[in-house]
Amino acid sequence: MKFLTYRYQNEASYGVLSKDENHVIDISNKHQSETLLELITSGEFSKAKIDKIINDNHDGIALNEIIILSPIEKPRRNIICLGLNYLDHAKESERFKGNNFNLPDAPAYFSKMAHITTGHDGTIDLNKDLTEMLDYEVELAIIIGKAGKNIPADEAHKYIFGYTILNDFTARDLQRKHTQWFKGKSLDGYTALGPVISHISNFSYPPNLYLRSYVNGEIRQASKTEHLIYDMDTIISDFSKGVTLLPGDIIATGTPAGVGMGFDPPKFLRSGDEVVCEIEGVGMLRNLVK
Ligand code: MG
Repeated sequence: MKFLTYRYQNEASYGVLSKDENHVIDISNKHQSETLLELITSGEFSKAKIDKIINDNHDGIALNEIIILSPIEKPRRNIICLGLNYLDHAKESERFKGNNFNLPDAPAYFSKMAHITTGHDGTIDLNKDLTEMLDYEVELAIIIGKAGKNIPADEAHKYIFGYTILNDFTARDLQRKHTQWFKGKSLDGYTALGPVISHISNFSYPPNLYLRSYVNGEIRQASKTEHLIYDMDTIISDFSKGVTLLPGDIIATGTPAGVGMGFDPPKFLRSGDEVVCEIEGVGMLRNLVK
């Protein structure tokens, strides 16, 4: 099952893709929850109930009649992010900064503010007055499904609701100027999410998924999640030591090599660029830079 938030005839709602994946079936009318985030957090979610809705519905609203919104438009907390979590990207990043590369001996965590996230086909503001180095980062994002603290690695999968694509837009010059990654990644709209949340039951565990990004059709990043330095069991178990994860939390697991700063000369984003991120089993997330 794949969940999405969408607008149809000027009303926002949420639903699941039909079996043919060409239609959306509204599930908001079968639940008390007002948003998909609320459904995930309320404990109202039942896989059996939604499987039945999908099986009983042979039609729905055609995808070309809806506007897909970010699956979680207003996250309740900052995005939990992993830095330097693919070896090839960690090397290109240190090269760009003129540093020697050392393999991190613990996960590098940071967070980005995202009071409003950008959805599929949403526009990313270039912020020309603030940055000349806007960059993209395709990432597999974990959506947490239930609260937990001190989660053992072998139980981590029980806390995952599903996965989505996250484009971790970053102003590299702000990231450097302010020493910490926080500001350069927290500009309004710089977290793009979607197009769907693909439920964990759609995948074997741990999933090994292709992830790719393209700028104006040119492939920039191509990797698989097996190349994560710290895998999702480790991330969930390690981060939750002494920290309570809550349902609806979003964990961006890191990005592979091929971001704009990794090229010589760098290939930062310009107005009019189209960025597409693709992850196997989730779909394609497209954004336009303006
Ligand atoms: Mg990132």
